[in-house]
Amino acid sequence: MNYSIALVPGDGIGPEIMVHAVEALEAAGDRYGHVFHTVELDAGGCAIDRCGEPLPAESLEAAKQCDAVLLAAVGGPQWETLPGNLRPERALLGLRAGLEVYANLRPAVLLPQLRAACPLKDEVLMASNSEGKPGFDLLIVRELTGGIYFGKRGRSEDGGTAFDTETYSRPEIERVLRTGYEAAMTRRKKLCVVDKANVLESSRLWRETAQAMAEEYPAVETSYLYVDNAAMQLIRAPGRFDVIVTSNLFGDILSDEASVLTGSIGMLASASLGAQAPGSSGAPVGRMGLYEPIHGSAPDIAGQDLANPLAMILSAAMMLRYSFGLEAEAAALEAAVNAVLDQGLRTADIASRGGSRGGNAALPEKIVGTREMGRAVLNAFSLSA
Ligand code: NAD
Repeated sequence: MNYSIALVPGDGIGPEIMVHAVEALEAAGDRYGHVFHTVELDAGGCAIDRCGEPLPAESLEAAKQCDAVLLAAVGGPQWETLPGNLRPERALLGLRAGLEVYANLRPAVLLPQLRAACPLKDEVLMASNSEGKPGFDLLIVRELTGGIYFGKRGRSEDGGTAFDTETYSRPEIERVLRTGYEAAMTRRKKLCVVDKANVLESSRLWRETAQAMAEEYPAVETSYLYVDNAAMQLIRAPGRFDVIVTSNLFGDILSDEASVLTGSIGMLASASLGAQAPGSSGAPVGRMGLYEPIHGSAPDIAGQDLANPLAMILSAAMMLRYSFGLEAEAAALEAAVNAVLDQGLRTADIASRGGSRGGNAALPEKIVGTREMGRAVLNAFSLSA
């Protein structure tokens, strides 16, 4: 099968890590008989340098024509003094809005090999974990194109009063909830709606909408938490969660909280999903998606072979799963990442502090650079054939 993918390497460590995701995709294509046609797009700081704007219209247009978009990271200190609408990060907002990707999926998984990087105690990690092992595996589904970040805002004439508005319509809530339920159906079938329905009218609409939709998914256990309680439960018993669905603002905060629990942002991938992709390849693709690591362009380590490429590779795996429906291919890439961690390979950001043995890895830790880590994933992938 043929698929078309828009690649946005961006700035800083972006191009260094993108290379390894593309190699991983090619390896998956070779093994499973797919062709991934890629087109590289200018966006971010490099686009400002080349064309004077962070997201040239032709980049957005080309991205829209593809089946999915894989983005590394944008931004850097050299562009920080530009006015807000000309900064590299505008490319992200422009792509999200232009591709109409309204549901942001952020998995947060504590891998046993990286146990040492998690700040929580064993007894906390055991709490409410149905498998009786210290760990968690949760997915936060955040509404991405509505709510207070997009609502009416302003200042009074004297500037001394300001307001922002949280507005949600039932269809906006329904489509993101449905994304959450569909994800829950492929996981442990638990979904927690996080809101502030004791105070906010918009949250009461979220809860009503969720209560109605829960009836369509009787196999899924639906629960409700106020956001303040959810923030506490994430650090008291993260193992109790499977899928969390929430608004843009609450999801922004909770997904950062959850990412800290996993130890390294160099490991975390994300997907932002829209509706059915138009697709240029003719493949029976699913939803348009923008896939990216959650970290930024890490200018402090760019060009030094220090960046962890695993979040980028795991983002490519999410693309295979959610936009192309290629579950076996995605799982094989994830297994290859797991295998290199089992071999004790670590980029500096996930190495255990001061020790040569890390986490629960069977082998001593070996600190490697970006390129060696990327090659090791490819090796592990080919050995698993
Ligand atoms: P950052 O995520 O780039 O870096 C934070 C810290 O984590 C740094 O010490 C960095 O070295 C480290 N780090 C990040 N990714 C890593 C990786 N893959 N491997 C090893 N270490 C890694 O966040 P920041 O420093 O606040 O931002 C740097 C630039 O990135 C800014 O211009 C910011 O606006 C931009 N940014 C872009 C995105 C995006 O493209 N989605 C997201 C966040 C920040």
